[in-house]
Amino acid sequence: MTKVMHFGDSVSSDLRARDKTIVGGKGANLAEMAGIGLPVPPGFTITTEVCTEYNTSGKVFGDDLREAVAKGVAHIEAATGRSFGVSSNPLLVSVRSGARVSMPGMMDTVLNLGLNDDTVQGLVAQSNDERFAWDSYRRFIQMYSDVVLGLNHGRFEEVLDEIKDVRGFASDVELSAEHWREAVTRFKAIVEEDLGRPFPQDVQEQLWGAIAAVFESWESDRAKVYRRLHDIPGDWGTAVNVQAMVFGNMGETSATGVAFTRDPATGTKAYYGEWLVNAQGEDVVAGIRTPQYLTRAAREAAGAQAASMEEAMPKAFAQLAEVFELLERHYCDMQDIEFTVERGKLWLLQTRTGKRTARAALKMAVDMVGEGLIDKTTAIRRIDPMALDQLMHPTLDGDAPRDVLTRGLPASPGAAAGVIALDADTAERLAAGGQDVILVRVDTSPEDIHGMHAARGILTARGGMTSHAAVVARGMGRPCVSGAPQLTIDLTRRTAQIGALEFKEGETITLDGSSGEVMAGQVPMIAPDLSGDFATMMEWADGYRRMKVRTNAETPHDCEVARQFGAEGIGLCRTEHMFFDAARISAVREMILAESQSGREAALAKLLPEQRDDFKAIFTTMAGLPCTIRLLDPPLHEFLPHSDEEFGEVAQAAGIGIDTLKRRAAELHEFNPMLGHRGCRLGVTYPEIYEMQARAIFEAACEVTAQGGASVVPEIMIPLVGTRKELAILKTLVDETAQKVFSERGITVEYLVGTMIELPRAALLADEIAKEARFFSFGTNDLTQTTLGVSRDDAARFLGTYVEKDIYARDPFVTLDIDGVGKLLEMATTSGREVRPDLKLGICGEHGGDPASIHYCEKIGLDYVSASPFRIPIARLAAAQASL
Ligand code: ADP
Ligand code: MG
Ligand code: MG
Repeated sequence: MTKVMHFGDSVSSDLRARDKTIVGGKGANLAEMAGIGLPVPPGFTITTEVCTEYNTSGKVFGDDLREAVAKGVAHIEAATGRSFGVSSNPLLVSVRSGARVSMPGMMDTVLNLGLNDDTVQGLVAQSNDERFAWDSYRRFIQMYSDVVLGLNHGRFEEVLDEIKDVRGFASDVELSAEHWREAVTRFKAIVEEDLGRPFPQDVQEQLWGAIAAVFESWESDRAKVYRRLHDIPGDWGTAVNVQAMVFGNMGETSATGVAFTRDPATGTKAYYGEWLVNAQGEDVVAGIRTPQYLTRAAREAAGAQAASMEEAMPKAFAQLAEVFELLERHYCDMQDIEFTVERGKLWLLQTRTGKRTARAALKMAVDMVGEGLIDKTTAIRRIDPMALDQLMHPTLDGDAPRDVLTRGLPASPGAAAGVIALDADTAERLAAGGQDVILVRVDTSPEDIHGMHAARGILTARGGMTSHAAVVARGMGRPCVSGAPQLTIDLTRRTAQIGALEFKEGETITLDGSSGEVMAGQVPMIAPDLSGDFATMMEWADGYRRMKVRTNAETPHDCEVARQFGAEGIGLCRTEHMFFDAARISAVREMILAESQSGREAALAKLLPEQRDDFKAIFTTMAGLPCTIRLLDPPLHEFLPHSDEEFGEVAQAAGIGIDTLKRRAAELHEFNPMLGHRGCRLGVTYPEIYEMQARAIFEAACEVTAQGGASVVPEIMIPLVGTRKELAILKTLVDETAQKVFSERGITVEYLVGTMIELPRAALLADEIAKEARFFSFGTNDLTQTTLGVSRDDAARFLGTYVEKDIYARDPFVTLDIDGVGKLLEMATTSGREVRPDLKLGICGEHGGDPASIHYCEKIGLDYVSASPFRIPIARLAAAQASL
């Protein structure tokens, strides 16, 4: 098995050299770019398989690997004409990690590796630039000590400050060769003191130290947290890229930068990026110097002074622009590119599919179809359904007054308001307590990921549009304002000074990630715009989607919203939600607490007209679309009065004494209500409740139909059925009620009676139950509880640990447990359809709005999924993707 793949001069014949799973994303794209003739410094990649082997078998390097790496180094030497560890014309390399997917938390890149007291002299001769050589050496010691040796780099910064202070220098630019040489001497002394041995002078030791550090960083806590949050398997491993250095810090004709082929925030087709003259590597994102704009247009739009690359290095820029076009055509997607200019010559150091906001993703996908770059199905596949969520949420109301404290960079769009948290742990804690949180930091690093995740928005004092905070926030869909100039944080007093005001941790601010504004208090927000690219994408998706998408809704308002989002019916109308209305809860309580059938009937008679009006409103709003209505489901005690005052009201209305009422309430106590007297068990024991509900439904349907509305076909759903007999009894009740209403009204409407499949027994005996049911709706919330024996309301205490330990890959209440619960769905689908080929099948649990679960529903051939209104677009897109 090949352990090391070369790239840079000739194309490797091994196809695996471009397989991300083998060489990681960075390695694959470096090989790919070199293969299409772009200027890529030569190098080699150690495969991900070697990483996995290293970490699972005692962390040792085998002889075969050593041999392969030696060959890789020889390849770079031959391609560059330089020699590794030799003082005349020395070869310097970078050592870069690169997993299959880009992953913060991994080892930082080490640049300028191969420098020592000898080779630095060679570098002076090679470059004819003493200052450059010593600057590179001190950078190397600093980076290697931090990243590989794990030494605290604070002391290096102190030394640099001292060197500058003594001479009255304001910035690094003023330091000369001699000063950098002094820095090197003092850095080496610090390392020796901390490490108990000198800084490694042996370039082989340097190289293997860096390789080991990359491999071991795969197992770091930071990397593990990131993997857990992003469902990345631990056995993927990371590749290591070793690559000849090119130098952006060789004076005024050299530079380094990062660029996107289109604007990653808006999707506009305009080059977008940042660069720095005479700089190396991460200087651009580190926020030490303020990066300059790439294009003249961007510089002018921002009103900035410092020359853009287009103006300062027109030749290199023109070349770069050609590369942008070429790479977009090659990858058929927006690219995120890292480049360096060494004495006027352009080099490419990385390309990858650029991260983007949801809005930009939509715009780019729609534009690229228009440009003929991709087809519609590719465009549909390219949008993460969950990311649509970002677009369906509010932006700041432009007319609302806002007290702008400061304006930073618009790093990730959208608006958010919340209480200030000054560190990631606090953010997580406050969010767990149910608060909306804004994480406020000087800057962020991979250790802050959990806090960023917990926060609604992120505000930083330092860093550009490509800083860690900006990149991660865009990926997570969190609004972010970075580089806010007038923000200082006092962690001792736990306060943040923003503009003229001082805030305590826990006080509220609002961010607008689209404008960069930071405001005091909570600024009102407005609903999002779902026309344009959003509407286009939805229309395309609907063209490929097989399953219908319905909504879970019980108020005319929710139905209206859901229809605007594209719902094609109601999959679940929970009638009990209508009972909580202040005007009728008293009658509901009277019904529950009644001791006799006649008492219950009297109370139900009060509820009948109310329910009938509810259904009329819903049927009218849904205008002939199918409506599945579930009869009363929860245990009755959920409706009981709590206070003496409430008991008093009910007593008066029902004409019963308070003590009798209280005794009756106590009788209703259940030890395990979710498995108790609820669902169809209520219908079986108190038929008059379901009879009233059925009557309300049929009367409403008759009235709406009689008024000339679209014909209504109610689908009446009986919950919590476990046996055929239960359903048979209640179906008869519904049918008889229908006949009564139809003859009273002199009008007949079509209707279906079906059931929710939410008990394992019902799934197991689906063929029996299908004899009575015209439709099944999988109630996967309860079906998950009852199949796993896990109470959803109590799962929080242990489910996190379960997911962490990979007992369940994901939270089974969020994403369907396909192996277990999914098997029941599949069984019930098959056996139900055997008995009744036209059985309608749908899902109405939370899972109906979850993309992975929707894929499974498509696979087993359900007719529709049903989701809450704001999940409808997500479900439409996910269902289309599942159909492709
Ligand atoms: P990350 O994955 O964190 O972006 P990279 O491995 O891409 O880390 O390295 C970060 C930066 O270091 C690059 O963008 C580039 O500027 C610089 N760099 C890496 N390798 C080289 C090299 N061979 N020559 C010059 N600069 C390099
Ligand atoms: Mg990095
Ligand atoms: Mg990079």
